[in-house]
Amino acid sequence: MDCVFCKIVAGEMPGDIVYQDEGLIAFRDINPMASTHLLIIPKKHITSLVDLSEAESSLIGDMVKVANQLAKREGISESGYRLVINCGEQGGQLVPHLHLHLLGGRQLSGALG
Ligand code: 5GP
Ligand code: ZN
Repeated sequence: MDCVFCKIVAGEMPGDIVYQDEGLIAFRDINPMASTHLLIIPKKHITSLVDLSEAESSLIGDMVKVANQLAKREGISESGYRLVINCGEQGGQLVPHLHLHLLGGRQLSGALG
């Protein structure tokens, strides 16, 4: 499959991987918007939130749990951080493999879009 994030999961493309477990991996965003900018993704290819089946919906809780752990590890738990999932074209999703952004380490703008 021609999916950049699947290639990182498969080790076919370099990625600065900071976490992995059975179902998820996390790596640093190639174009970071803050000093901490990680992407937490399911290893399984799921295109976007809109394609998430009911059976898979617990994945989101798992992704948030990992993001919270990584925020602690990055030292931004106390200062604060933002979790974002973009979905579809107007939601600003550029990579068609479900991913959760973890952003922190600076004052983020109040704008949500
Ligand atoms: P989206 O706009 O789809 O929510 O976010 C996609 C994110 O993936 C962007 O922040 C972009 O910088 C990041 N990204 C795109 N291609 C790569 C890549 O090959 N490696 C890594 N580490 N991040 C990528
Ligand atoms: Zn994929």
